[in-house]
Amino acid sequence: MLKDEVTQLLSRLIQVDTTNPPGNETAAAELLRDYLQANGLECELYARTPERANLVTRIKGTGDGPSLLFLGHTDVVLADPAEWSVPPFSGEVRDGEVWGRGALDMKGMVASHAVAIASLAREGFTPKGDLIFAATADEEVGDGFGLEWLCEAHPDAVRCDFAINEGGGDRLELGGNVYWVCSTAEKMSAPFRIRVKGRSGHASMPGIADNALVKAATLIDRISAYEPPREIQQEVAAFLRALDAGSVEELPDVAREMVEPLLAPTFSPTMISASQKRNVIPALCEVTVDCRLLPGTTPADVEPTIRQVLGNELEYEIEFTEAQGGTRSALDTELWRAVESFVAETEPTSKAVPICTAGFTDSHWLREAFGTVAYGFFPARMPSELMAAVIHSADERVPIDDLELGVTWLRHAARTLLS
Ligand SMILES: [Zn+2]
Repeated sequence: MLKDEVTQLLSRLIQVDTTNPPGNETAAAELLRDYLQANGLECELYARTPERANLVTRIKGTGDGPSLLFLGHTDVVLADPAEWSVPPFSGEVRDGEVWGRGALDMKGMVASHAVAIASLAREGFTPKGDLIFAATADEEVGDGFGLEWLCEAHPDAVRCDFAINEGGGDRLELGGNVYWVCSTAEKMSAPFRIRVKGRSGHASMPGIADNALVKAATLIDRISAYEPPREIQQEVAAFLRALDAGSVEELPDVAREMVEPLLAPTFSPTMISASQKRNVIPALCEVTVDCRLLPGTTPADVEPTIRQVLGNELEYEIEFTEAQGGTRSALDTELWRAVESFVAETEPTSKAVPICTAGFTDSHWLREAFGTVAYGFFPARMPSELMAAVIHSADERVPIDDLELGVTWLRHAARTLLS
């Protein structure tokens, strides 16, 4: 049974400690390679450094249709065993769930991807375009060993028309209706630093100095009080339509909370540094602001607004330190119709709804490099609140029924898009 197959594979995958840093994803890639090769799939390992391999395999298509990639990452975030009820790398199967770091983010999905492509290969499935499986390194830190590097160094290995990745699949019950959420766009992470200047001096005589920290407090106040104008982009518009809501205000609480950060950029001051000594008034204070922009917006677009909000009577500089994500895929696609038909088969009264997510995934590398239509969709009946509570936290686990549902979805997507 595919259900047992995916359970067992996930359990073994969790037992391979791929905590990033340092990652050591090669061990996970080798385990997957052994499994896939036993099912007749030739695998290729691509590694910038030997211990951080990415694995790619494919069922070659006949060449007269689009290609589809199952994308997943094999690295996981740190787990502190003291906080867990089971050892985090045990892969223990208990009460219908597989426990361990990565069960949800995202070895569970990787194992389902592997079982879906392996089972199709066993059945002799001949797709029109290539069906590709990629298990990549270094998503959680993003130091350039994973998909970013693959797209640059080995584009032919991962070039694809469609991709299915993490980032969505939650099942929402709202006002008696059921919705399955599919992520089709992501906000951009564009943090910036505000560098505030003053003049140092002995803290016992504040009058002789100009305290950069005190000035920064004013700027922090201004940026956090700022309410940027809202706009309804295509994902939120489609979400509202699906829920029959005329406006965001009409949405039930849970849905409104989901949509709220997707209406405008957000600015959250999160870090500050000033004097290194208690008795020295700082001449410099640096504030880091976590900033998330709507897809289609760049740091250059938003910088004039930030300066306006901060005012010009205090002396400061702004520096954006990175800009990642912020891409979207079209909503009217064959992949979207595959999501819809899957949802209709799984739960006839339910509906698929698109969403833009506030965080970002590896999908943006594919969108940027190849114009891939990439969606985050792994259907899960596990309640979203529980999921949110254990991802990147203690007692991460996934219901075996969700793994099975995932395999069914992936096989459906491959058959729908590629035959
Ligand atoms: Zn992830």
